[in-house]
Amino acid sequence: MDSKPSDSKIIDGKAFADGLRQRIAVAAASLRATHGLVPGLAVVLVGDDPASQVYVRNKGKATVAAGLVSVEHRLAATASQGDLLALIGTLNCDPAIHGILVQLPLPAQIDPTRVIEAIDPAKDVDGLHVVNIGRLWAGIPALAPCTPLGCVLLLKDRLGDLTGASAVVIGRSNLVGKPLAAMLLAEGCTVSVGHSKTRDLPALSRGADILVAAVGRPGLVRGGWIKPGATVIDVGINRVPVEGGGTRLVGDVAFDEALPVVDGITPVPGGVGPMTIACLLRNTVTAACRSHGIEMPSF
Ligand code: NAP
Repeated sequence: MDSKPSDSKIIDGKAFADGLRQRIAVAAASLRATHGLVPGLAVVLVGDDPASQVYVRNKGKATVAAGLVSVEHRLAATASQGDLLALIGTLNCDPAIHGILVQLPLPAQIDPTRVIEAIDPAKDVDGLHVVNIGRLWAGIPALAPCTPLGCVLLLKDRLGDLTGASAVVIGRSNLVGKPLAAMLLAEGCTVSVGHSKTRDLPALSRGADILVAAVGRPGLVRGGWIKPGATVIDVGINRVPVEGGGTRLVGDVAFDEALPVVDGITPVPGGVGPMTIACLLRNTVTAACRSHGIEMPSF
């Protein structure tokens, strides 16, 4: 336990994401003025899943607010895999589109792997194409998945150089855990990845200077799992019922137990979540610059 004030332990992802979006807007204005380049993001939504509709709307608004072009394509829930692949083929060839994002999940008749593999890796702003995954592990410049990228940006902002830190990532999904492990390794961390088959997750976690929970289990990580002075990134987003009715969002970390132990922790909501869209915009600008051989602006 330490005497550091609790407020100063909160890693404010919302504030950082707001600042990043402003810096992206400045970079976009400069690209337009200097090179006549306006980065364009195409978001494809198949079906009418209400949560996906909200995500797509929010991405569109944020894209326009940053001065980028946002193009939305909606296909019916009954669309075939062929319909979607044809649209991706068209977007791959469109010079005004630098980033393509297909909102997941897709209806059952469409194989998401086949769809992601059809996206031009240079436009894969979600960073899910095997070419980008391979590049990430090989340490070659890649488009990195947005949520893990957001985690690394928050960690570097908080801690500076991550070299030599012992990092434990709980969760091994292709979306979060695995790419984050690759990125932390590239930052010089010594990385362990825990998952549902890990024998002693509390012991593994207690060795971490940087502990990331990306699991989807409310309050899984208890205060006693955390090394005193560690930095904790809580990726989990879980909706739980509250007494008296209604629900609220919580992370994978038992926040009240963790706060006295940690040096820094991301809250849920307001931690990693806001970083994801900001990193999508960042990736879109990155993809646009690379496609034109323009040096990347500093964000
Ligand atoms: P996922 O694909 O379901 O993967 C969950 C991982 O957690 C798996 O590797 C699983 O292990 C592991 N796991 C499950 N139960 C466990 C347990 N009891 N102990 C240890 N490990 C356990 O989930 P995801 O897509 O990575 O997402 C993880 C969380 O992050 C979710 O809450 C999701 O909503 C949230 N998320 C947030 C954002 C954001 O923008 N902030 C973005 C993406 C995801 P196995 O592999 O062994 O099954």
